[in-house]
Amino acid sequence: MSLDNILKDINNRARLIAVSKNVTQNEVIALYNQGLREFGENRVQELKRKSEILSNLDIKWHFIGRLQSNKINQLISLRPTLWQSCESLEMALEVDKRLNYKLDTLLQINSANEESKQGVDPKDAINIYKEIQNRCKNLNLIGVMSIGAHSDDVDEIKKSFEITKEIFDSLKPHGATICSMGMSGDFKLAIECGSNMIRLGTILYS
Ligand SMILES: *Cc1c(COP(=O)(O)O)cnc(C)c1O
Repeated sequence: MSLDNILKDINNRARLIAVSKNVTQNEVIALYNQGLREFGENRVQELKRKSEILSNLDIKWHFIGRLQSNKINQLISLRPTLWQSCESLEMALEVDKRLNYKLDTLLQINSANEESKQGVDPKDAINIYKEIQNRCKNLNLIGVMSIGAHSDDVDEIKKSFEITKEIFDSLKPHGATICSMGMSGDFKLAIECGSNMIRLGTILYS
């Protein structure tokens, strides 16, 4: 799908993050030349590699993947624009104690309740969010992130987005402004359900 058509579908309702985890820096440059400025990677090593090679470009990098403990220092040194995938209080504490600046962060929620997915249980999300805010002075929590249910059943995917949106709404009085949900296969539905940040990979390169 062409970027123009995707942007029409988004219609300024959500911030577009281009996920570059499966492509080379050349595809990043191509999208950059079409006007995109925010990119996401799910591995710290690859985030480091691409951000260094492309350091002459004005790119905002997002980290969207599982963070291994032995990669925390490296992630911190890369100063990402947004750490979207904080998945537990424990991980928040680990990152916070090493930070020497304020890092914008999203709490990842496992709204689909899938074993394979990272993120906090929806029923604990609000308490964990507040606890991170109280205990992690260097983490600036500004919202939530979630991956839609891995399913062919639209209602099931929608349900997972609605759960995330409801948590997001409850957290607005606590400073949440970003609701990051929606990928190539479900971004239109995610926006209808209240997402204001989508993370697109495959659809941008096909
Ligand atoms: C890979 C990935 C995406 C993009 O997925 P596509 O289906 O390729 O659009 C979005 N979010 C996260 C967390 C990812 O790992």
